[in-house]
Amino acid sequence: MSNYQARLGLYIAGEWLGPEGRATQDVLDPATGQVNAALPLATAADLDTALDAADRGFKAWRVTAPEARAALLMKAAVLLRERAGDLGRIATLEQGKPFDEAKGEALYAAALLDFHAAEGLRVYGRVLQRPSGTRSLVLHQPIGPVAAFCAWNFPIMNVVRKIAPALAAGCSIIIKPSEETAGSACEVMRCFQDAGIPGDVAQCVFGVPDQVSRHLLASPVTRKLSFTGSVPVGKHLAKLAAETLMATTMELGGHGPVMVFDDCDLDRTLDTLVATKFRNAGQVCIAPTRFHVQRGVYDAFAAGFAERTRALKVGSGLEKGVQMGPMANARRPDAIAAMVEDARSIGARVLAGGGERASGGGFFYEPTVLADVPLTARAMNDEPFGPLALLNPFDTVDEAIAEANRLPYGLAAYCFTENGRRQNRLGDEIEAGMVAINNVRLSWVDSPFGGVKDSGYGSEDGPEGVKAHLVTKTVHMT
Ligand code: NAD
Repeated sequence: MSNYQARLGLYIAGEWLGPEGRATQDVLDPATGQVNAALPLATAADLDTALDAADRGFKAWRVTAPEARAALLMKAAVLLRERAGDLGRIATLEQGKPFDEAKGEALYAAALLDFHAAEGLRVYGRVLQRPSGTRSLVLHQPIGPVAAFCAWNFPIMNVVRKIAPALAAGCSIIIKPSEETAGSACEVMRCFQDAGIPGDVAQCVFGVPDQVSRHLLASPVTRKLSFTGSVPVGKHLAKLAAETLMATTMELGGHGPVMVFDDCDLDRTLDTLVATKFRNAGQVCIAPTRFHVQRGVYDAFAAGFAERTRALKVGSGLEKGVQMGPMANARRPDAIAAMVEDARSIGARVLAGGGERASGGGFFYEPTVLADVPLTARAMNDEPFGPLALLNPFDTVDEAIAEANRLPYGLAAYCFTENGRRQNRLGDEIEAGMVAINNVRLSWVDSPFGGVKDSGYGSEDGPEGVKAHLVTKTVHMT
């Protein structure tokens, strides 16, 4: 992108602010490790300007007709679709995922906008009839300015998933996306700007994450925190938010258990699971991670999984036919290498990958499959967030459920069995916000997305996503 550098900036009160007088941070290409551009970081004064604007923007936007708000969101969706190719190229350049995945992410983000635009029209109240003939009214009103922080793994979609429900509900928002994928976020903001959404309603800043979050969360202007990222950062931010008792939505990490039973359709199960495991180089909060396979099909499953994994084409996401790109930053391959070494040292068998950096330069790590991984291995307890599949056998459904529920995470779980009674039991007893049975699709614009336990609380998407940006008021009329 020839003008990539020029298009990076802070979007505050409708103005694009560049590096003049501000510290900067390099944005890298993970396929090469080279610098793409320098990103300006917000000063404390910039954040105060953004807070003042968010306060102003909220006062006007909350009384804007829902139909007018919906029309602007749908216009932004049209622009996202028109620009999906450019957005996809930028996302690949700074995050590494294959171009088709990145373009698909932009199209999904457009669908999210359309859904939320319509959902914003369906905020209904309630009338309570009283014996005397008087009434009480139950009203749902926008909660106020939102501070949102999101991670680099879906650099387009994560940003839209925060902004769409806030704006549909009538809130203003200041978002701090990941500095590492700033170009994608800036292009998303241009879609909102070009659609005519007021510049004090949707704003975007970058900075030193801890400084930005402390500043925005300490302000009385901010009434809601929405965060997508790791469990430790989520817990830290929830404590900051507790100081002002603001509402919070926490979309945190996971450690997706997959339960594969003897009666599944093995080839179909393997095809979908291998593709899903290594999508976005495994850097997905709902990624399938721990594969618990019933003993009767364990060996066949392990052999089929390893064979399919070895056949994956790894390389730059801009190269045609590449199925897995580099990891998003230099921290991730090191983290995965340490987990693999730890598991191997206590007896795990390496069936595929396991150490060689798959390509010259950049932040690559081979797609890796480990079998017979002791439960004490770090990878069996901490979220790998990378191209690492962990395989272990089980015998009974009780054992599978106990293992699925063993960890404090509770985001996504997957089950493969043709037995209807067992499907119901798994759906009921697995401690997760989302369970997929005989499929791997957990994200739909109209269904709530979120976790339980350490994976967070509150839902995004579906009607629940808009509700999370509303407060309830009761008006008693005599
Ligand atoms: P990290 O926890 O350092 O950062 C995750 C994100 O949170 C980044 O975008 C970062 O800018 C932001 N962040 C960090 N500290 C913050 C603060 N004090 N205030 C506001 N924002 C802050 O982790 P990482 O090394 O970038 O990524 C690895 C871990 O992140 C993984 O283990 C995974 O659990 C988690 N992660 C989860 C998701 C998800 O969708 N749930 C997405 C990306 C990363």
